[in-house]
Amino acid sequence: MNSRKTAIAAIAATQTPETPTNPNFVEEFGCDVFGLKTMSEYLPKPVFKKLRETMETGKALDSSIADDVAHAMKTWAIERGATHYTHWFMPLTGATAEKHDSFLEPAENGKVIARFSGKNLIIGEPDASSFPSGGLRSTAEARGYTAWDPSSPAFIKRENGVATLYIPTAFCSYTGEVLDKKTPLLRSMQVLGAQAKRLLKCFGKDFEAGAKVTLGAEQEYFLIDKRFYVQRPDLMQTGRTLFGAPPQRHQQLEDHYFGAIKPRILSFMSELDRELWRLGIPAKTRHNEVAPAQFEVAPIFEEVNLAVDHNMLIMDALTRIADKHGLACLLHEKPFAGVNGAGKHNNWSISVGDINLLNPGKDPHQNAIFLTSLCAVIEAVDRHADLLRSAIAGAGNDHRLGANEAPPAIISMYLGEQLADIVSQIEKGEAKSSKQGKTLKIGADILPELPCDATDRNRTSPFAFTGNKFEFRAAGSSQSCASPNIVLNTAVAEAFDEIATHLENLPKNADFHAELQKLLSSIIKKHKKIIFNGNNYGEEWKKEAAKRGLPNLRTTPEAIKPLIKPENIALFEKYGVFNRVEMQSRYEIFLEEYERKIGIEAGLALKLARTHIIPAVAAYLERLGKTIEAEKLAGVKKSKLASYAQKISARLNGLIEVSEKLDLQISKAEKQQKILETMAELRKIADAAEGEVDNELWTLPKYCEMLFVY
Ligand code: ADP
Ligand code: MG
Repeated sequence: MNSRKTAIAAIAATQTPETPTNPNFVEEFGCDVFGLKTMSEYLPKPVFKKLRETMETGKALDSSIADDVAHAMKTWAIERGATHYTHWFMPLTGATAEKHDSFLEPAENGKVIARFSGKNLIIGEPDASSFPSGGLRSTAEARGYTAWDPSSPAFIKRENGVATLYIPTAFCSYTGEVLDKKTPLLRSMQVLGAQAKRLLKCFGKDFEAGAKVTLGAEQEYFLIDKRFYVQRPDLMQTGRTLFGAPPQRHQQLEDHYFGAIKPRILSFMSELDRELWRLGIPAKTRHNEVAPAQFEVAPIFEEVNLAVDHNMLIMDALTRIADKHGLACLLHEKPFAGVNGAGKHNNWSISVGDINLLNPGKDPHQNAIFLTSLCAVIEAVDRHADLLRSAIAGAGNDHRLGANEAPPAIISMYLGEQLADIVSQIEKGEAKSSKQGKTLKIGADILPELPCDATDRNRTSPFAFTGNKFEFRAAGSSQSCASPNIVLNTAVAEAFDEIATHLENLPKNADFHAELQKLLSSIIKKHKKIIFNGNNYGEEWKKEAAKRGLPNLRTTPEAIKPLIKPENIALFEKYGVFNRVEMQSRYEIFLEEYERKIGIEAGLALKLARTHIIPAVAAYLERLGKTIEAEKLAGVKKSKLASYAQKISARLNGLIEVSEKLDLQISKAEKQQKILETMAELRKIADAAEGEVDNELWTLPKYCEMLFVY
């Protein structure tokens, strides 16, 4: 038996053990988080009050309380089994990073004590020389700093019974440049929050409370059996299959989406939920997705910084818990060709006090705020469509954007028929209620009710209004949500800023609502080209979008160019989110990362072709040759085998020829697009051969096995 077959037999014989029930899941929620409840129990009252204030307002931390907080955190963590702590940060590799230190410190007379000081909590100094910095930091000054982010609570992560205290931190260089994704996110939240409050003030709403940018990130993923995974070097090293023919039946019957969840997967999901809940992550939905072996988990929305951290933890938990269940979780955007890829829906909104700015309300006042915010988002997305695209660029997502199941690389907005109708009427200067047919005046009338479901029939738009929030759907499944939210927050802050400035400067006797009407009308006139309610997957849209002048940045190198456009640098500098050097360095890091990834893929494709595919095809040809000999000996007259063998031989020649070409291109360091084309050419022959060569000789697990046998 070949190793594929051994794996299949073993999987078929595996029984899923029963999952223990957990009646305490409500009490257990957040038990591994040093959150408000735990803090109030472990901290002296005045310290708790100060810390809470910092967490809620984003004000700087009073350093005099750091020792007390650290002591309480250590006591709590040790009680819960931790021996070590780590600063936890998000370098520009896109992953998270950690370096564990034990609480042990030497004491007198050769003894040791457990100690964790305020300084240990607030600042860490990891050697940062091996993290990408895009030239921001020379190796000579390798020091980087991690700084505690009190707005995201510390937590205990458990791995096989080992408990470690994790402290979410920002990461910057010795000279203060930002080396991570958290810091700019925090800055962008602050900027948008301030502008949102300013805007609301124009509507007579003065809030003490801070504004909250909210995010609910739906996470798609694939699960396959580990016994197949370890036999696919391409999945292990690049996250995607570089070869493999789609099986006859994949997703045509649309029977996987929302289908009954198999026991083994449910058992995995149950453990996942339990772990997420312990970490205070409000996991809510779990279901089968469209492609075979594809699934989704979605938590309830939270403040964006926390939600981004939680999404990183979700990805980590998915991977770890899958492994425990003998599965491999694939987070790549396109692990399998020919079936759907995986994304991450970024549900985003802003609220101040009890007002969700993107909620069309029941009263005229709320509606005026809603329409103004809506127009601001339209303006922001149209102006900075290129930046939004850059925020989700990456080698993995390139395979997905523009393919037939994912939002295309062209950024546009979907509002739904009713809302689009209202918006176009505002443009004309008077909005007629589509339901009652009466004229609507902003701030004077109530909008027709916009039911959430009616506004979300369209699933092809990269940026859709979904009732009380916008859903940015083009983000990739493996990506951090930080980047798209940094862009969104900053771009909308700019639009809010401009609208607020206009409204604040109106003459005292101006008719506020008439002026607002005029302003919104002019915004829509200028930016309505970003609105598209049709089918984003069609060829027609590509042409139409080109006519409208919308950018269509198909590959990563094109898509990240906007990061260094002067007007974009100016935007981020104006709001203090990034400076010029930080933007430049990000551009360089992302470009280099892309080139390296394609380099790894190309090298591996060549290896797999030479060590797996060509040998299998050659062995099959040899076998056919022997049969032809046998036929001759037997005196078979009208054999068809020789012409069949010729066909296989042509495949073999093709494989050898194209691998030689790929080899040459790699050694000459050809452009990535050329290399990708050759890889596709090679794959085409290999996948055809997969459908012809004796199943026994094929070494790489096939799609029909990986996607269906689990
Ligand atoms: P669908 O699969 O239809 O896109 P889901 O219900 O699975 O929608 O996910 C919607 C996500 O949007 C959830 O994470 C939800 O908590 C989130 N969400 C709801 N309201 C808001 C809001 N005001 N701000 C941000 N996210 C929100
Ligand atoms: Mg969604």
